[in-house]
Amino acid sequence: MVEHGTPGMEVARLEHKLGIKASDTATILFTDCRVPRENLLGNPEVDTKKGFGGVMQTFDNTRPVVAAMGVGVAKAALDRTRELLKAEGYRGDYDRAVWGSSAVEAELYRMEADLESARLLTVKAAWMADNGQPNSMEASMAKAKAGRTVNAVTLRCAEICATLGYGEDELIEKWARDSKILDIFEGTQQIQQLIVARRLLGLSSTQLR
Ligand SMILES: Cc1cc2nc3c(=O)[nH]c(=O)nc-3n(C[C@H](O)[C@H](O)[C@H](O)COP(=O)(O)OP(=O)(O)OC[C@H]3O[C@@H](n4cnc5c(N)ncnc54)[C@H](O)[C@@H]3O)c2cc1C
Repeated sequence: MVEHGTPGMEVARLEHKLGIKASDTATILFTDCRVPRENLLGNPEVDTKKGFGGVMQTFDNTRPVVAAMGVGVAKAALDRTRELLKAEGYRGDYDRAVWGSSAVEAELYRMEADLESARLLTVKAAWMADNGQPNSMEASMAKAKAGRTVNAVTLRCAEICATLGYGEDELIEKWARDSKILDIFEGTQQIQQLIVARRLLGLSSTQLR
């Protein structure tokens, strides 16, 4: 932990971003910056051999968390969309087949199904992590599916709710902007797919890039 104001530490630039504006992203420079030993998190002995593997293991635990953020944001957007539509007479009571529903109802059912599959993949990956089971593939599957789903759902909700969905008075606009990062950090969509493919095909990172 490096306290702000420590000699040698300089916040060089704050990024201006599409979303997650409550979380600062900055370029921080450390020049001859001395950090007290007691500020170290974890083991002070640095094991360089475990470095990369350790980071990868961290992802097995953190990717389901980011996937869960995606599931939560997508659910919030869908819930709010349903509320807004209900005020305009939307029924959505599931008593009609998709072919007999309005286009908007059918679209909401499809998004709900997508969200449920993202949620189940996320719960599975998190359960495996909690129970000490190797879950790299499942964590990447959950992250890829939830990232894709939250991007599609929030943008579609903004679209369905039209002026309200695009306006800053509604959180749907914010969720649509916030959602993109969930498909990027902790490994992008493309990288998750690469990891899943490697696991399924039994190929190493040098064999499948
Ligand atoms: C707002 C924000 C906050 C962040 N917060 C954190 C944080 O708290 N902690 C942290 O550790 N990191 C953080 N990151 C970093 C983030 O995890 C990386 O930006 C992200 O994983 C993408 O890596 P990269 O930027 O190196 O992109 P690159 O690897 O340069 O990728 C650029 C593009 O190319 C694609 N690509 C790359 N390789 C391949 C391939 N082999 N096949 C197909 N496509 C490929 C990628 O999917 C991506 O679309 C943050 C990033 C942002 C934008």
